[in-house]
Amino acid sequence: MTPSRPRIGITVTTGGSTTPKGRWYADAVSAAGGEPVWLEPAEVLRAQDPAELLARIDGLLLSGGDDLDPRHYGERVLPDAGVRIDAPRDAAELPITRAALAEEMPILGICRGIQTLNVAAGGSLHQDLMLLGLARETHVQDARKPAWEPAHPVAIERDSQVAFHLGGAAVEVNSFHHQALKDVAPGFVVTARAPDGVIESIEDPARPFVIGVQWHPERMVDHHPGQRKLFAALVEAAQKRR
Ligand code: MN
Repeated sequence: MTPSRPRIGITVTTGGSTTPKGRWYADAVSAAGGEPVWLEPAEVLRAQDPAELLARIDGLLLSGGDDLDPRHYGERVLPDAGVRIDAPRDAAELPITRAALAEEMPILGICRGIQTLNVAAGGSLHQDLMLLGLARETHVQDARKPAWEPAHPVAIERDSQVAFHLGGAAVEVNSFHHQALKDVAPGFVVTARAPDGVIESIEDPARPFVIGVQWHPERMVDHHPGQRKLFAALVEAAQKRR
């Protein structure tokens, strides 16, 4: 029997599997030796229960996209926060993220994905960086710049898993987010911050591989090979779990 590659479920918005933004995730997973499995909301919601869906994958990649409904962390949408909700994704992703955590499945959350991970585990979000007294421009980089180009540095906790996988405590990252983590979910620790204090990565140190990053490593891999290691580590963790 030919050994098959670890299957990495990639959550995306409806139709997202055919867009260039979606393909960046799949390409990064493929290049790392994983087999991408698209998880659009309808596909997830079609499953009888999250366990049935998780049986089809070995690891979970929560991708970027629009905002979570603040009601999932006990808030109403604030005026002027520019919140754009993707309700089908919330309905699909929060239950499977909780189920994946319960099953100790490897999880990598990217951008919206770190937010999904945090909210699914009981944390909360700042609805807009403006509410922190920060300019949106700090973390929403100029659209005319290439997506792989860094927007700001992050300081990484030296003993963290994310530092181990990235091979260092200081890296430059891109930035495409107007929200950020507020209260970090129980059991998780902050492992990287931007110079203005915004949380840029979290992990659960008690689990083999549950990491969220606020930047977009999938858009950086061609020019910043260090970022490939996050996908390699996800695929390796998924392989070990099989
Ligand atoms: Mn940022």
